[in-house]
Amino acid sequence: MEPKGIVFNIQKFSIHDGPGVRTTVFLKGCPLRCKWCSNPESQLSRVQIMYRGENCLHCLKCARTCPEKAITAAENGRIHIDFHKCTGCLACVQGCPGRALTSEGEYKTVDEVMEVCLQDIDFYEESGGGVTISGDLRRRRNGPARFRGGTGPWP
Ligand code: SF4
Ligand code: SF4
Repeated sequence: MEPKGIVFNIQKFSIHDGPGVRTTVFLKGCPLRCKWCSNPESQLSRVQIMYRGENCLHCLKCARTCPEKAITAAENGRIHIDFHKCTGCLACVQGCPGRALTSEGEYKTVDEVMEVCLQDIDFYEESGGGVTISGDLRRRRNGPARFRGGTGPWP
């Protein structure tokens, strides 16, 4: 299976992360804990499912869709997500009719990341820029920087 990493954001036209015009690829799992961090949701090394209760239609489609049975109805009319079971497949997010579910982080292959980065290759060449990788850069047994095979339990 092709290795995948958990990408938090791909930010084009980054001009403060190195020379020239750059694209910054933010990987989930930043090991730093800066007091001024503006993206604390980037710190956990896993896909996080976010729930906005006011948008929820209480249809429980998410519970029926989840292949891991990680979503159940909560007593207060909301839903409960068992993050020990969740693999971050995003099936619930994609199928939610109320847009009550969103995600922080998404599994992407190197090719998927490179496809976005290479869209700006003319700017890199003209300005002496390039690509900056940010976040969890620690090497793993299955590959660099949280790129690993499959979408199984968190390493
Ligand atoms: S699918 Fe969306 S709208 Fe329906 S219960 Fe789940 S979170 Fe709420
Ligand atoms: S991301 Fe996938 S595994 Fe996690 S709660 Fe949603 S459907 Fe279930």
